[in-house]
Amino acid sequence: MIQRTLSIVKPDAVAKNAIGDVLAAIEAGGLKVIATKMLHMSKKQAEGFYAVHSDRPFFNDLTDFMSEGPVVVSVLEGEDAIAKYREILGATNPDEAEEGTVRRRIGTNIERNAAHGSDAPETAAFEISYFFNALELHQR
Ligand code: ADP
Ligand code: MG
Repeated sequence: MIQRTLSIVKPDAVAKNAIGDVLAAIEAGGLKVIATKMLHMSKKQAEGFYAVHSDRPFFNDLTDFMSEGPVVVSVLEGEDAIAKYREILGATNPDEAEEGTVRRRIGTNIERNAAHGSDAPETAAFEISYFFNALELHQR
């Protein structure tokens, strides 16, 4: 099934000059970037994005981190894009991520783990609409 998913190159990876590295891994993995932009989230905007995690102990640190600098948000499209991109990213904790994955190669720790990918069709739809309007989503 052709799906769409949301990718975020997180502030740690942007600061490491790894935007191109993450986008190259996406393209090498067979997914298409159909929309992309750079933005710097406010703390409130990061809290809105991660609202599902608002009860977690790491929520405050996570939203500080996600609003500390610019990010690159992209919409990816392809066969099984949601699961495929999470394979390209690797496990949440870079130490547990498979060799060669984005988080293993670029991530620093379980919080500063280089990139985000949506985890299900419903969350992908919410996350895409959080950053992109219909005019920005090209049909390819
Ligand atoms: P994923 O991004 O792999 O879907 P989660 O949805 O569980 O992982 O968590 C969202 C983000 O919160 C993670 O990508 C990571 O940046 C951060 N995070 C997750 N677990 C922890 C933790 N135990 N301590 C600190 N930060 C965490
Ligand atoms: Mg998640």
